[in-house]
Amino acid sequence: MKPLLTGMLPKELSQYLNIKPSFRGNQIFEWIHRGITSFTDMTNLPLELRETLKEKTILTSEVSKEELSDDGTAKITLKLQDNSYIESVLLVDENERKTACLSSQAGCAMGCTFCKTATMGLIRNLDAGEIVEQFLHLQSRYGNISNIVFMGMGEPMANLTEVMKSIEILHHPKGQNIGHRRITVSTSGITEKIKELADTGIPVRLAVSLISADEKIRAELMPVAGKETLKNLKASLVYFQEKAKKRITMEYVLMAGINDKREDAIKLRHFTHNLKTIVNIIPWNPVDDLPYREPDDKTVESFITMLEELSITVTKRYRKGRSVNGACGQLAVLQNSPDSPDSGRA
Ligand code: SAH
Ligand code: SF4
Repeated sequence: MKPLLTGMLPKELSQYLNIKPSFRGNQIFEWIHRGITSFTDMTNLPLELRETLKEKTILTSEVSKEELSDDGTAKITLKLQDNSYIESVLLVDENERKTACLSSQAGCAMGCTFCKTATMGLIRNLDAGEIVEQFLHLQSRYGNISNIVFMGMGEPMANLTEVMKSIEILHHPKGQNIGHRRITVSTSGITEKIKELADTGIPVRLAVSLISADEKIRAELMPVAGKETLKNLKASLVYFQEKAKKRITMEYVLMAGINDKREDAIKLRHFTHNLKTIVNIIPWNPVDDLPYREPDDKTVESFITMLEELSITVTKRYRKGRSVNGACGQLAVLQNSPDSPDSGRA
């Protein structure tokens, strides 16, 4: 594997490339984050140094496919250097604000029964540089990005070290300078890691895929819930909130006939009691061969009304990106198969 320069901070770049004075590391970092992909173009480096470094690879991944949706959502498929594939999505809101939805793993081991990524299983964790490269590819294609959500493929908490490193890089003032509050880490609810994230003191936002506040239903949909009871999950969220003092987003994928009844709303009320939360209602996006139904608009609206009547703060995530399978839970790429995005070209 080629080293991932995109996964390095300025200091690490100058150490790794063995260059002095150390401010050269800053300069290289700035160029990388301005989207320059060749040392030859780093015009404030001495010519001799540019010559020495010119064979080095900056981006280790390439875009093998791009899909654009009418609503402004774009999905790119990246081919990594070991020929694994991952997907990243760009979302644009009504104020033209751009959010990068990044993957933390190729595939996912968590096995949620309603999610397409789960059908891939886990291929491997991503390196911090591979996470940063998703951002760089999206930004170079679609312009300045202001927000990041770790809601692509994978479970960020199962790869927390690399995720946090990528956040440190993307937050760095000499690079993208993305504020921590503009970064959201989404998890299926690995409680130890939620506490670990709280203990770092880094003020990123937390989103939790709650899906159901009924122990039995949740455990049927999410194998993780077999190990992590709702009680433990709640305790970890209380811990997070005491440290971070921020509202936590509860992601609630609404599936017809599964978690859309009044008793589900009441259980959700109990679970969120004592927590400052916003519940994000995400109508289930269809995935081939999965045995669920998307709720119709009436069901979605009436569930939202039930929550509001119970004094729960709610938002609804629009069904963005569906035509490109770039909506939540629709990310999955066949690996190294005849259907791989660039088959026939290699
Ligand atoms: N693994 C992390 C982050 C990635 S999943 C997590 O689970 O939180 C991003 C979001 O998409 C999660 O909230 C997940 O519940 C949701 N999701 C998964 N499958 C979906 C589907 N088919 N339709 C709508 N949302 C889905
Ligand atoms: Fe993994 Fe999240 Fe999908 Fe569950 S919902 S399988 S944790 S990506």
